[in-house]
Amino acid sequence: MTTMTTMTLELTDFHWTMQLLDTLDAGLVVVDREYRVCAWNSFMQHYSGINADNIMGKCLFRSYPNLPERWLKAKLESTAKLKTRGFSNWEDRPIIFEFKNFSPVSQGLLNMYQNMVITPLKSPKGEVTHFAIMLQDVSDIAKSKMHLKRSNEKLTEMGRTDGLTGLFNRAFWESKFVEEFNSLQTHGGTSTLVMFDIDHFKRVNDTYGHAIGDFVIRETAQQLMKAARGSDVCGRYGGEEFAVLLTETTADQASYFAERLRKRIEELSLAIDGHELKYTISLGITEYNLLDTGHLDWLKRADKALYQSKEAGRNATSIL
Ligand code: GH3
Ligand code: MG
Ligand code: MG
Repeated sequence: MTTMTTMTLELTDFHWTMQLLDTLDAGLVVVDREYRVCAWNSFMQHYSGINADNIMGKCLFRSYPNLPERWLKAKLESTAKLKTRGFSNWEDRPIIFEFKNFSPVSQGLLNMYQNMVITPLKSPKGEVTHFAIMLQDVSDIAKSKMHLKRSNEKLTEMGRTDGLTGLFNRAFWESKFVEEFNSLQTHGGTSTLVMFDIDHFKRVNDTYGHAIGDFVIRETAQQLMKAARGSDVCGRYGGEEFAVLLTETTADQASYFAERLRKRIEELSLAIDGHELKYTISLGITEYNLLDTGHLDWLKRADKALYQSKEAGRNATSIL
């Protein structure tokens, strides 16, 4: 008699529990130690398209082959061993069950991103006999977080590059330059700075207008990027003035780069409204010097070398 009452109560309890679990806006799966499904709530039915009746008593991994089986088994077994809950965060593994997302807020994010909690279920004797897997749909959070991350990356990128040319902007270039200066002071080494400026650029603006002036600045940046190595730090220093830091490079070596760039631009012919636009640049080269007490000493010397090229009649390279 007592047994019957308990049985009835247990069954009623189970019935209520299942009803409660069905109202959950989260997935709930219970499996035994052989990974046979013992509970599959309506959230799971809805998103998987598999009815509880069709999966109950069957192995989860056989019925749902897209699961990351090895990973999930290891996770389940470790919760059994430690007898504590286990977690999976969408940031580490976004998708466990490949569910499509229907939420209108998640437009563009096709698969449902999930957080998962695994609870090892213990028998009255304390042995782990089952696992409860709770899945939470975090697509909306994931989407806004990813959006924020992309915006931040874009902001960081915008913070260090020059909008017109895509080269480093002055502030960022200068921070790299200071970094290199400090490193040279501490560890020694040879690096060279090249500064250059477009010749008679005012004439370009005056003749063709500011927009064409901008185009010439962009074209110059393109030529610079073609001539530079990956390790060279190229920046737009001012309006039509550029700075290039060549690490582990002597002034003599840098002069090959400088001359190559000067000649490339000299030979360049831009077609503007049926006209041929030709222009030149002047360059100043200078190596880091042990006597430089600050990075500005190095920078000023490059500026002075550049001025010498201008004085010498432009379209020239000078080393100081
Ligand atoms: P020099 O050979 O001595 O360098 O002569 P220059 O005409 O190039 O002289 P300067 O360097 O003094 O003039 C630079 C001009 O570049 C002045 C400024 O109006 C123009 N400028 C600066 N920034 C920009 C820009 O972003 N776009 C355009 N189109 N022009 C700019
Ligand atoms: Mg100029
Ligand atoms: Mg200038």
